[in-house]
Amino acid sequence: MLVPVFTLKLNHRINPRMVTVGKYDGTHPCLTAATQAGKVFIHNPHIRSQRFATNRLLQGGLDCDTSLLNINQSVSCLTAGILDPRLGNDMLLVGTQTNLLAYDVHNNSDVFYKEVTDGANAIVLGQLGEIPSPLAIIGGNCTLQGFDLEGNDLFWTVTGDNVRSLALSDFDGDGKNELLAGSEDFDIRVFKEDEIMAEMSETETITALCHMHGSRFGYALANGTVGVYDRSTRYWRIKSKNHAMSIHAFDLNSDGVCELITGWSNGKIDARSDRTGEVIFKDNFTSSVAGIVEEDYRMDGQMQLICCSIEGDVRGYLPAGREMKGNLMDANAEQDLIRDLSQRKQNLLLELRNYEENSKVALSALGGEGDGQIGIIPANTQLQTGLSVNIDSTNQNPNVELNISTLNDTIIRAVLIFAEGIFDGESHVVHPSAHNLSGQIRIPIIPPKDVPVDLHIKAFVGYRNSIQFHVFELTRQLPRFSMYALRTPGTTSEPPSYATFTVSDRVQRVVMWMNQNFLVPEDIECLSMPLEVCFMSLRNGGQLSIKMNTNGEITIRTEDIDLAGEIIQSLASFLAIEDLQVEADFPAYFAELRQILVQVVDGYHSVHQKLTAEMADHSNLVRSLLVRAEDARLMGDMRSMKKGYMELYDLNRDLINGYKIRCNNHTQLLTCLRVVNLAIQRAGRLRVGKPKTQVISACRDAIKNNNVNALFKIIRAGSTSS
Ligand code: CA
Ligand code: CA
Repeated sequence: MLVPVFTLKLNHRINPRMVTVGKYDGTHPCLTAATQAGKVFIHNPHIRSQRFATNRLLQGGLDCDTSLLNINQSVSCLTAGILDPRLGNDMLLVGTQTNLLAYDVHNNSDVFYKEVTDGANAIVLGQLGEIPSPLAIIGGNCTLQGFDLEGNDLFWTVTGDNVRSLALSDFDGDGKNELLAGSEDFDIRVFKEDEIMAEMSETETITALCHMHGSRFGYALANGTVGVYDRSTRYWRIKSKNHAMSIHAFDLNSDGVCELITGWSNGKIDARSDRTGEVIFKDNFTSSVAGIVEEDYRMDGQMQLICCSIEGDVRGYLPAGREMKGNLMDANAEQDLIRDLSQRKQNLLLELRNYEENSKVALSALGGEGDGQIGIIPANTQLQTGLSVNIDSTNQNPNVELNISTLNDTIIRAVLIFAEGIFDGESHVVHPSAHNLSGQIRIPIIPPKDVPVDLHIKAFVGYRNSIQFHVFELTRQLPRFSMYALRTPGTTSEPPSYATFTVSDRVQRVVMWMNQNFLVPEDIECLSMPLEVCFMSLRNGGQLSIKMNTNGEITIRTEDIDLAGEIIQSLASFLAIEDLQVEADFPAYFAELRQILVQVVDGYHSVHQKLTAEMADHSNLVRSLLVRAEDARLMGDMRSMKKGYMELYDLNRDLINGYKIRCNNHTQLLTCLRVVNLAIQRAGRLRVGKPKTQVISACRDAIKNNNVNALFKIIRAGSTSS
């Protein structure tokens, strides 16, 4: 059995997901983690003689192996690594909700300290695409931003929601890293520098991502799921009732391939095969796991897997030696396996007995006894499934309807549907009461997002008196835009908002895309030009019209800018369009956005600057008042001293009030920035390829220069020049 080669007890409580290891002097590895008190501790077991004492770094008292770094704000992410390739030592990067600090621990100096208004929820350090210098990339309030060692942001882009996890991985196998970003809208997005090259929809917030090997990466969700993707295809996943706190790729059984190591909220650590998800090793801490890293922590030339708990327990594991033959589990695990297998044997025996019973019943039925309706159904029984849009006027909640029926006198006892992201949980069971049994079941489905969903259906078919049922298994795909019902053009007024672009494909291809991506009663045909097809949203009754004329010009009319973006992305990928320039106008949305931009962001920025300046002045005044009051005390001038401290008291109160306003102001500013970042993201989603990247960077420049008019011009036209 694999046992830890070292254990440590650190006298600090560690924040979950904020553990890293760095060689700050280029040689000696130091375990580094954020603590709950806004501090970062650095465990340095190798250099006992070295002493730190500066404004940031303090020696950790009794616990002389650790030093404490004062951040004075709660830490939201940290990492360590090479930021300056000319130097051999790692830098420490610490992110908070307002700042990013790059710190040279060895030389006790700030490399840079940047204000980041969108906050830093996640951080990764390394090489991205063709950008020559390593970047410290942070993910915050709908944005991604990468800084070089001088603190220049060489990389900036927007993403669909708050970023919660980041990883660098060569997704497409071209030898250069892409950035994987997991966010609160359940999407994993892959950025080739600032261009999105893939998007995978998951079913919960993505809390962790890690590169495995090749194009394979691990992920964890807020609902206890962990798994592995190879490019955009999910290999496997498992779901636990605990939360995955940290994931890491490490070859623990020495077979040359990394396992996915997961640290769980209940203190469990497990290592799973990257191919199957099978557990090959597990261990337990007494408290939640905080982080998992790897390093040669004993400095003997062998890498260890290092796991830390939130209570400060640390264990290091060496990869299994050859004599263990990949068998990392203890005897208990073998017993578990035997128990597991005997359970399986029991189930198989039970199944066998069922078959025997059934054949007995069948035989007796043939002999003229019984009604022949227990368990056996006619061999030609078929299960039919249909998907349709249900907008019956009597229906309060229009929905997509799944209709399942048998074509003979059999009945459907129950239906089980497995699908991601459309039910509360991942499965849905329909189980009609005994007097309601029939050969048909209708199931309403309301997908919350416009993504294609596979419905894995299991239907139990038999007769009213059956004890056993035949199970039909089949899979149906719900098309991406199934929540839009076909309408006759011209029945309602057209939405004033639109996006328009030109494609070189024939209209038949566009019609084919519609038939595949919408739920239409029968295939749409293009009988005359221009083509005009109208839909209505089942979610809010909003209108959508898609027109195409003989010049290949397509106009999408909808008030929903997100829907317009989804349609453009879906159509462009179907037609394999690499670059698409789009003109758009969304008057209602733009008016709302302009209000926020002009009145609020401007206002908040100036208030913010004024308050910051005031606070700096006040802090200087505090210092001089304090010195004066103390001088007065030493001179025995109690009246002046009292006066000084009274003034100090008042000033302190002002400062606290100012701080409160600033806090409030910052929260409101964040909300507004989120709106602005989302607008940039939406402007990007209306375009494809280069025009998309150009729109995003032009929008950002416009915001930086406070040029609101230019921003709207860009969002409308796709560029500033036209
Ligand atoms: Ca690549
Ligand atoms: Ca392995």
